[in-house]
Amino acid sequence: MNRNGFLKLLAALSATSVAMKLKDLDKITGALDSTPSMPVLFLGHGIPMNAIEENEFVKGFRKVSSEIALPKAVLCVSAHWETRGTLVTAMEKPRTIHDFGGFPQELFEVQYPAPGSPELAQKVKDLIKSTDVHLDDKWGLDHGAWSVIRHMYPDADLPVIQLSLDHTQGPRYHYDLAKELVKLRDKGVLIEGSGNMVHNLRMVAWSKLNEQYAYDWANEANDRMKQYILNGNHDRLINYSKQGKEFQLSIPSPEHYLPLLYTLALQKDSDVIELFNDQPVAGSLSMTSVKIG
Ligand code: ZN
Repeated sequence: MNRNGFLKLLAALSATSVAMKLKDLDKITGALDSTPSMPVLFLGHGIPMNAIEENEFVKGFRKVSSEIALPKAVLCVSAHWETRGTLVTAMEKPRTIHDFGGFPQELFEVQYPAPGSPELAQKVKDLIKSTDVHLDDKWGLDHGAWSVIRHMYPDADLPVIQLSLDHTQGPRYHYDLAKELVKLRDKGVLIEGSGNMVHNLRMVAWSKLNEQYAYDWANEANDRMKQYILNGNHDRLINYSKQGKEFQLSIPSPEHYLPLLYTLALQKDSDVIELFNDQPVAGSLSMTSVKIG
């Protein structure tokens, strides 16, 4: 081999080695490009009928999506997917799950055919070090996810994945786990918790289902939650079970409240916090939603 041939070979080899290093790096940091930091949302989803009704709440969901950059994908933590361990949906085509009963047929006919994202699911699994996240191929999109996301992105053209709530773990665990996902905010992923801050179905005033009515305890708890959110007093919100009887009545079980902790955990110092859809419903529910960043 002459000198020129040797130099060409050397150049080719080093290009190969640079390409390989970049490939390895890509594996570690993930294939998603960096973007300006996406906001994080907590969405009060309320009753399933909000999926098909036209009301001020769905207008609020639409408005917030119009105000933020178009995400590359949505990661939803829904109150309606509780599991042992933490799972992330990893199928190409998540099914629309109608996980409720006693509603009009029209609601059961809603389909939200957003694609999944096995790549993003793998990225979530890689990012979370505190537990072994399982890639799920059975769930799909439950109504906690699609009943709000269909108002925000009606064309169903953005990939949507869900992260489950491990029902064996306490609030601090969920808050800390959520923090491990913060890098996704800089990768164009919109992370949203979907639940309700005040959610006591046993005490719903059925005659006031469409009224902006709250019991005193619901009002008080919701006001204090908002105050803690705006002041960044997350410890009080994590230790919700020690905040008195108003909180206990408002959070009789944790699944609708925990998605709020996922949202708060992802807050950065520079973020602005906005509340929207800040209304009670039927005495014992609040639709209060939060935009951070
Ligand atoms: Zn719900």
